[in-house]
Amino acid sequence: MGSVVCKFGGTSVASAAQVRKVEGIIRSDARRRFLVPSAPGKRYPSDKKITDLLYTCHQLAEQGLSFAEPYQIICDRYLELARELEVSTSLESELAEIERQLKSGASRDYVASRGEYLSGRIIADYMGARFVDPADGIRLTADGHLDPASYALLAPLLQGEGLFVVPGFYGRGPDGEIRTFSRGGSDITGAVVARAVDAEVYENWTDVSGLLMADPRIVPDAQPIREVTYRELRELSYMGASVFHEEAMFPVRQANIPINIRNTNAPEEPGTLITPARDASSTPIVGVAGRTGFSMVYIEKELMNQERGFGRKVLDIIEAHGISFEHAPTGIDSMCVIFADKELDGKTDELIADLNRALKPDRIGLVHGLALIATVGEGMAFRVGTAARLFTAIANNGVNVRIIAQGSSEINIIIGVEEKDFVPAVQAIYHAFVE
Ligand code: ASP
Repeated sequence: MGSVVCKFGGTSVASAAQVRKVEGIIRSDARRRFLVPSAPGKRYPSDKKITDLLYTCHQLAEQGLSFAEPYQIICDRYLELARELEVSTSLESELAEIERQLKSGASRDYVASRGEYLSGRIIADYMGARFVDPADGIRLTADGHLDPASYALLAPLLQGEGLFVVPGFYGRGPDGEIRTFSRGGSDITGAVVARAVDAEVYENWTDVSGLLMADPRIVPDAQPIREVTYRELRELSYMGASVFHEEAMFPVRQANIPINIRNTNAPEEPGTLITPARDASSTPIVGVAGRTGFSMVYIEKELMNQERGFGRKVLDIIEAHGISFEHAPTGIDSMCVIFADKELDGKTDELIADLNRALKPDRIGLVHGLALIATVGEGMAFRVGTAARLFTAIANNGVNVRIIAQGSSEINIIIGVEEKDFVPAVQAIYHAFVE
C-alpha cells in the first residue's frame, strides 16, 4: 500500500476543533500515515498567528524589552489546545525552556521554529503518532534553502508502521543550528517528507478548496482548477497565484509525486491536483494570473539588429546595478526590458544614464505603471487560435496591449497593459476562455 503525506496549514491546526477535523481526515484513509503540521494560525480574521507572535517576542527580547505579554498569549493558546485535546504533553517545561532561550539570546529562527515544534508535539500525542524532529533529518543551506541531502537523512527516521508527525518549517543549517525556511515553509517540509517516503501523493491541507482559475477579487465566480501540471502551476504562481510555497514544488516534482491541495473544512471536495502531465484537450487554459507594479525601459537605435553584443551589453549593465529583470522582448531596432518596480527602487536614473553612455541609443526612456498578465495552459501548445481568441477579447474591451511575450514552451502568453486596464483585461481573457 502506498503512503500519503498530509501537510496541515496554520488554520487547520488553529484550535482543538480544527485538530479534530485533522484527525477525521487522517483516520478516514489508512494510507495517510505522515502528518506535517504548521504552527497554529488564525482562528478568526483578527486573531494572531503563533509564528508572528514568536517573531514579536524575539524582536522585543533582542531590544532588551519585556516580551511577557505576547509570550503569555502564546502559552495560553498552546495550554488551551492541549487541555481541550486532553493530551499529557509536558508543555509547561517546554514553554519555560523557550522563555529561557528567549532571555539568553536564542536566534530568530530557533524561536520561530518552536511554533511548529510545539504544534507537532501536541498533535503527535493526540494522534498516538511517533514524533520525528526535523532537526534530525532536514538540512538547510547557508542561505536558508533546502539541502537535497535531507531526503536520504530523513528517510530512515520514517521507517516502520503507524503514524508519524514531522513538524514543518525548520531543520538545521550547515553550522548545526536550527534554521527555518522562508515564511510558509511548512509546505517545503511536507514535500521533503513526501520525497523521503516516496509517497503516492502529497496532500496539502489548507482552508481553500484548491486553486481558482483567476483571482476571485477580479473574477468573483472564478471556477476551481481541478488539475494543473507542475509547469503550469510554476507559471501561475510566478504571476501571483499563491496557495503553495514556490520552493515546495521541486522535491516532489523531481520524483513525479502529485500534490493535492485540499480543504480541511470541506474534506469531501477534491481540491486541485498538481500532476506531471494532464489531458489538456478539453481545457487548454488552466488559469489567468497577473500582477501590477512593473516598469519598462525601452531602447531604440537604428540598425540595432546588426550590432553584435547589443543585448549582452544591456543585460550586463542591468546586472552591474544589481537589478534582476522579468522579460526582455525585442523588436528590430528596439529592445525593452521589464522590471518589477521593487527591483528598480531608487536605481533608475543611474541605470538609464549608464545605458545611454554605453549604448548611445537614438531614444531611451522609462514607462511606469504596467501590469503583466499571464494566460497559462498546456493545451495552448501547437493549437491554432489561442492567441487570436485572447487578443480579440482584449481588443473588444478597448484595452491596449503594450507588450507581448511568449516563452518557447508555448504554455504561457504574457501581455503587458497599463495598470488601469489590468482588471478589465483579466476579466476579458477569463471570459473568453471559460464561458
Ligand atoms: N508557521 C510558518 C509561517 O507562518 C510556516 C508555515 O506555516 O508554513 O510562515
